[in-house]
Amino acid sequence: MLRIADIINFLETLAPLHLQEEYDNCGLVCGNSNAEALGAIVALDLTAEVVDEAIENGFNLIVVHHPPIFKGLKKIDAKDPVTSMLLRCIHHEIAVYGIHTNLDNVIWGVNGEIASRLGLKNLQVLAPKAGTHLQLNTYVPSAHAEGVKNAIFEAGAGAIGLYNECSFSSLGEGTFKALEGANPFIGEKGLRHLEQEQKLEFIFPVHLQNQVMMALKAAHPYETVAYHILPLENHFQELGGGAIGSLPDAVDEKEVLSMLKSIFKTGAIRHSPLTGKPIKTVALCGGSGKSLIYNALAMKADLYFTGDLGYHDFFLPAGRMLLADIGHFESEQYTSDLLERVIKEKFPTFAVLKTGRYTNPVNYFL
Ligand SMILES: [Zn+2]
Repeated sequence: MLRIADIINFLETLAPLHLQEEYDNCGLVCGNSNAEALGAIVALDLTAEVVDEAIENGFNLIVVHHPPIFKGLKKIDAKDPVTSMLLRCIHHEIAVYGIHTNLDNVIWGVNGEIASRLGLKNLQVLAPKAGTHLQLNTYVPSAHAEGVKNAIFEAGAGAIGLYNECSFSSLGEGTFKALEGANPFIGEKGLRHLEQEQKLEFIFPVHLQNQVMMALKAAHPYETVAYHILPLENHFQELGGGAIGSLPDAVDEKEVLSMLKSIFKTGAIRHSPLTGKPIKTVALCGGSGKSLIYNALAMKADLYFTGDLGYHDFFLPAGRMLLADIGHFESEQYTSDLLERVIKEKFPTFAVLKTGRYTNPVNYFL
């Protein structure tokens, strides 16, 4: 039986919850994750029409990009439109799951999907995120170092970009004295023991901490394992906000704007003054990406496009870059296709449907 939790666990291996921004509220918003998964609707937002669609299809899971609850709820009052939708979901035993800034912060997620629609090459994260990885140091008798290393790699540590099984080891001498009640693997109780040990160093993503520690303790021969876990402030190229890459060929600015208009089916694009330069390097951020304008400038993008820009933002490029607002919904619309696709690939017999309802609340009067 496929449970809702199986789908959630899969999504969280692709976009771990710890990658969400502090203000966010990703994860299960309501519902019973132990229930059998009967089918899922995928949408950017939870709207009354999306809830209708789930009910009509007999589905009991809605996966949304924007979590419907952001801040704490103090009252469950059906007069509030969001609460009323959630009450309907609860009444119909429909679980609602939000996958938001954690999906923005993985390169294959929201921004990778946008980039693929434009055919961008050499894609990397525009604003790599710090605090995503930890370092593990441990001390192992030399004869057991290889076994411990293998177990820790197996648990997912030591992967950096396009490399895995990365570690560092150095030789040294460890000392310990086993006290009454101890059961030392080596050495005699009451005597200081000197052992040739290797110090092993690894890095791993924060969300793997439990499995890496379990692997270490299972593979390490000592009764009490010596280790340090250290937070890292490194930036890793594949984790963080926005994306930057290059078009196969340089294109005229107006041509790029018309490409964006047609690919993202937007009613109108607001943009800064044309710079007169061709566009080759393109930075982007799905949703509300004004905070990354300076990152795009620093990375020498010819164009940065996102949604939700304000009047003053359009002054910032000052002729150095073309800045465009293609609309929040428009920029993120393909997130639903991405989620539908990855869930289908993983669970081929499970019914998952991208919503057929148009949920953009912004309209253009032309
Ligand atoms: Zn958004």
